[in-house]
Amino acid sequence: MPTALPSTPRVAESMLRGVDRTGSGGADAPSLLVELLATRWPDLRARLLAEHADDGNGRCTGCRVPGYGTPGGHWPCLLATLAQRAEQRAETNNNGKAHR
Ligand SMILES: [Zn+2]
Repeated sequence: MPTALPSTPRVAESMLRGVDRTGSGGADAPSLLVELLATRWPDLRARLLAEHADDGNGRCTGCRVPGYGTPGGHWPCLLATLAQRAEQRAETNNNGKAHR
């Protein structure tokens, strides 16, 4: 089984950075992070979606921040993709449970 679950959004964020840097930081990491973003950390998910947005020129606004992703990278970047997948999963979960 994969490594221990990240216990806080901060830990998850550092995992996301690691994934973004290596491009393939462990095959399980992205799907695990999508699951956690969908179920546990809606705040972090919303922040990623807000920060990693199209700047109007097909570039990621969040990844222009030095040390966070790839400056000038194309959008959707990996983090945006993960957050979008988590969003879709969360919506599916909500529909299934009729949670309110
Ligand atoms: Zn980005």
